[in-house]
Amino acid sequence: MKENKLKKLVRNCYPTYTFDKVENIPLELLKELNIKLVLLDMDNTLIDNKGKYSKELKRWIKNVKAKGIKCYIMSNSISEKMVKKISKELGMQYYYKARKPRQKGYYYMLEKTQVEKENILMIGDQLFTDIYGGNRFGIKTILVKPINKKEIIVSKIKRPFERVILNHYYKKKGVLKNAK
Ligand SMILES: [Mg+2]
Repeated sequence: MKENKLKKLVRNCYPTYTFDKVENIPLELLKELNIKLVLLDMDNTLIDNKGKYSKELKRWIKNVKAKGIKCYIMSNSISEKMVKKISKELGMQYYYKARKPRQKGYYYMLEKTQVEKENILMIGDQLFTDIYGGNRFGIKTILVKPINKKEIIVSKIKRPFERVILNHYYKKKGVLKNAK
């Protein structure tokens, strides 16, 4: 791989912001960024490995929606059941089998919601799917920490690589200024 290609790939893994968890993202930030559509990863971003989410998260989504911002779950899950259940409980619409970081799902959301790219935010816990996919598509991205440490094997393998890229990112940005 050519060096500039690699650089571009790494840069596309840098989130616009980082937070510990979804409910820590201030509504003022969404307003400041002029966000009209929030795409949320489900596993380890909204729910833990038992399918549980916090009361604070539910309230956060309610408050975001009250501001007139659309919220969608955008999940790579191949099973519709859980995505449907969680989106219903949290009062969101959903898109499953999204195959992030592929671009098709992002285009689908664009078409479906008619929201401009500059007004879309992707929130997720994985650099190589949620963040990389969103950045490549040209939308804003927020990385949150995974709710569960216990993850499926695939994610576990990817984590050390995520670390390497994140260390670069933090070094470049200075300390985690925007993390709460
Ligand atoms: Mg996830």
